[in-house]
Amino acid sequence: METKIIKIDPIKPELKKLGYCAKVIKSGGLVAFPTETVYGLGACVYLEDAVKKIFKAKNRPLDNPLIVHISNLEQLKSLVKEIPEKAQKLINEAWPGPLTLIFKKNNNVSYIVTGGLETVAIRMPAHPVALKLIELSNCPIAAPSANIAGRPSPTNPKHVIEDLFGKIDIIIDAGDTFFGVESTIINIATDPPVLLRPGPLPVEKIKEFLNEDIIIPDFAKGLAETKVAMSPGTKYRHYSPSKPLILVETSNYSGLDKLVRKAMKLCKEFRKKKKKVLIIASDETKNNYMDCIVVSLGPRSNLYEVAKNLYKTLRLIDELDVDVAIVEGFEERGIGLAIMNRLRKASGMNIIKV
Ligand code: AMP
Ligand code: MG
Repeated sequence: METKIIKIDPIKPELKKLGYCAKVIKSGGLVAFPTETVYGLGACVYLEDAVKKIFKAKNRPLDNPLIVHISNLEQLKSLVKEIPEKAQKLINEAWPGPLTLIFKKNNNVSYIVTGGLETVAIRMPAHPVALKLIELSNCPIAAPSANIAGRPSPTNPKHVIEDLFGKIDIIIDAGDTFFGVESTIINIATDPPVLLRPGPLPVEKIKEFLNEDIIIPDFAKGLAETKVAMSPGTKYRHYSPSKPLILVETSNYSGLDKLVRKAMKLCKEFRKKKKKVLIIASDETKNNYMDCIVVSLGPRSNLYEVAKNLYKTLRLIDELDVDVAIVEGFEERGIGLAIMNRLRKASGMNIIKV
């Protein structure tokens, strides 16, 4: 299939170009588009055959549901049975933005979209290109991340091209996404609400908006898997490079010596075995590693920057001539919870605690 790459201004999207992309969505095509979190692979939610093509292009298991992206609240009303009061609170505070909520689905939402579930995941993205594309398509857009299933999510068009060129109709090139990790997902239908996936909107903020505690299960930290449908995607391998990745964690990130010493020791052991090692460190620690290939995810003082660099660095592991990678852990506060969730999963639970 021929894939068109269309360059669009991320802040002031050219309407003519986006109009063309919307036409492709309306006629049952697939368009990869930027959101503020990662690039999505979109189809009109009401066109079942188009939605099926998403699963095929990504090689995504059919029971892993998609998130439906909307540009106004009328669309939300048409997709769900009810809008609980708590959901409305979060919507008022956080939409458009990187927050996905789980609702009881209406009959017009196909089970193909929801992976067979009675619930549907919905969010209103805060990226001008995404919002305008949905508006011009005149249809909510079902979209998972625009990567081959299991690979790190795409945070720029180059990643989408690597994974999906030749398999979809259009790749919009609007540069880097803003946050670099996928949306926070909350199941609001339960009492108390449950965090299904940490993301850029921190749990601390959600508690503040709701004025109550929410449940953070181990799987949301990346420390366990769910086999039940509560958070279907979590049972699949995720965000993973194809080479081994070891995560070194500590319970106290105010002192980093122990962490660095452990990573350095592991590196030496691998080198003795003639293995080439990549150390993924932070700005604060990167100069401590001698005789290793080192990249930094960014400063610990700005975890948003670390999140932004995360997936491109995970892709780098496969691109570089190394046999194994060792990554430092980060504090689980704010977006740090999402960073650790992704790192634990990417490591396939290959975790060393110091
Ligand atoms: P992706 O957009 O690729 O990050 O994938 C969307 C993720 O949203 C899935 O892997 C699920 O974890 C989650 N999700 C989508 N729909 C539902 C739902 N109805 N209930 C619970 N989680 C959902
Ligand atoms: Mg995904």
